[in-house]
Amino acid sequence: MNILMTLEMAASAGERPAVTLDDRSLSAARILALARRAAERFRGAPAVLYRAPNHLAYPVALFGCALAGVPFVPLNYRLGADQLAGIEGRHPGAVRIGPDDLEGLLDATGEPPAGDVPAPWDQDAVAVILYTSGTTAAPKAALLRHRHLLAYVLNTLEFNSAADGDAALVAVPPYHIAGLTNLMSNLYTGRRVVYLPAFSAGEWLAALRREKVTHAMLVPTMLARIVEELPAGEGAGVPTLRSLAYGGARAPRTVVEKALRAFPDAGFVNAYGLTETSSSIAVLGPQDHRAALAADDPVVRDRLTSVGRPLPGVEIELRTVDGELCPQGSTGLVHVRGEQISGEYSGRSVLDADGWFPTGDLGRLDADGYLYVEGRADDTIIRGGENIAPAEIEDVLLEHPGVREAVVIGVPDEEWGQRIVAVLVSSAEGGEGVEPDEIRQWVRKRLRTSKTPDTVVFRADLPRTGTGKLLRRTLIAELAELATPAELDN
Ligand code: ATP
Repeated sequence: MNILMTLEMAASAGERPAVTLDDRSLSAARILALARRAAERFRGAPAVLYRAPNHLAYPVALFGCALAGVPFVPLNYRLGADQLAGIEGRHPGAVRIGPDDLEGLLDATGEPPAGDVPAPWDQDAVAVILYTSGTTAAPKAALLRHRHLLAYVLNTLEFNSAADGDAALVAVPPYHIAGLTNLMSNLYTGRRVVYLPAFSAGEWLAALRREKVTHAMLVPTMLARIVEELPAGEGAGVPTLRSLAYGGARAPRTVVEKALRAFPDAGFVNAYGLTETSSSIAVLGPQDHRAALAADDPVVRDRLTSVGRPLPGVEIELRTVDGELCPQGSTGLVHVRGEQISGEYSGRSVLDADGWFPTGDLGRLDADGYLYVEGRADDTIIRGGENIAPAEIEDVLLEHPGVREAVVIGVPDEEWGQRIVAVLVSSAEGGEGVEPDEIRQWVRKRLRTSKTPDTVVFRADLPRTGTGKLLRRTLIAELAELATPAELDN
């Protein structure tokens, strides 16, 4: 079994466009022919590094690697030169593909490939090496074998039925696990993939209308930008859109509610997963989204903050720090097991003897098996001996009309061990607008006093990765240098 199967499945459906970028498309058969040519160049290399945005050449390079039996390594082209050089240094002798090489991969002139060399069929071979976002430490190189990625494609089949003419808009970058798994799932189920080379809310909406998009996948910061772009209270006017999936980070409830109103005909999917788990392991589906929006019952309403139930083929378990199973309803460390879970970094697996992978996330399961992810365990603030999950406070802050973005972090404090600092971006044009005391009262009224931020700081923006993930550690390092709350307030 080889991920090439997904492309062959698309090619078997005939000569229709399989991947589109701007005004050009390639059929799956054409991608396969170009991938054979690319494979001749890649064969024998230790890896192929792809350091460029989404492009028609991306599937050519990915499947060229699958044919050549060489790991494909998509890199975050937005990383600084030093970080990129560090990662590239870990792959000596690799073939490098940068923006200037993309057209060359689509050029079919010259000698035809020597012949059909069959793809290696070893499902244990490494298909892709993907670097994690690096929000908790330096990016880790996750090894994804053919069997992991194919297991994901098969586990998500029931959510991925496609009809003729279906088109999926992929705005996530090629170095994100969702970009990779979306490509394979869409090819396998017969949807045309439409690439958005660089994201902006306006471009995204325009592409949706132009290409009559039926399915779209986004990270939450993109969804937030789109919701802001739309006139208040009005629908987006894209009736073709049947499915809107978001995930990869926690989505603020306010953003999801606004999006549900803007796209009344779309089925929403919240997808929770990690690079090491071949993307989604749990999903909250369309019915739960619509039911939560309309519900009076607080349990059903709260489902909007849940990541839903495990995919078929995936088991989820919550454990204490000592490794004991948590009683139902209490918060614990999320562990996951299944065919799509790699849990392996260059030569080192972190799966336990029974195949469980520790995600590093804190979560809770309700009586119906819905998972609520409360964030990274490492982000927990310990103030006066009480464990405080930043996510809960961030959600409340984001409900304040004067707050556009919010992050809550712990910084060292002599009295409390850590104090709670809320770093906010104002929703007022270029200004602060809201008094820190008003913000503190807003939280105190809705949560316990011990969860009220000790300090509230406004900034013009928040440090984020290329896919919009908050870089909490960068903020913590910046703010820890400021000694007193008074100094922080200034
Ligand atoms: P690193 O592992 O390098 O520190 P990272 O944790 O951001 O970075 P990723 O694999 O990109 O690495 O992201 C996975 C994490 O993103 C999950 O562990 C979880 O904390 C968060 N996440 C992903 N999807 C969701 C979701 N739908 N809801 C809430 N959190 C999510």
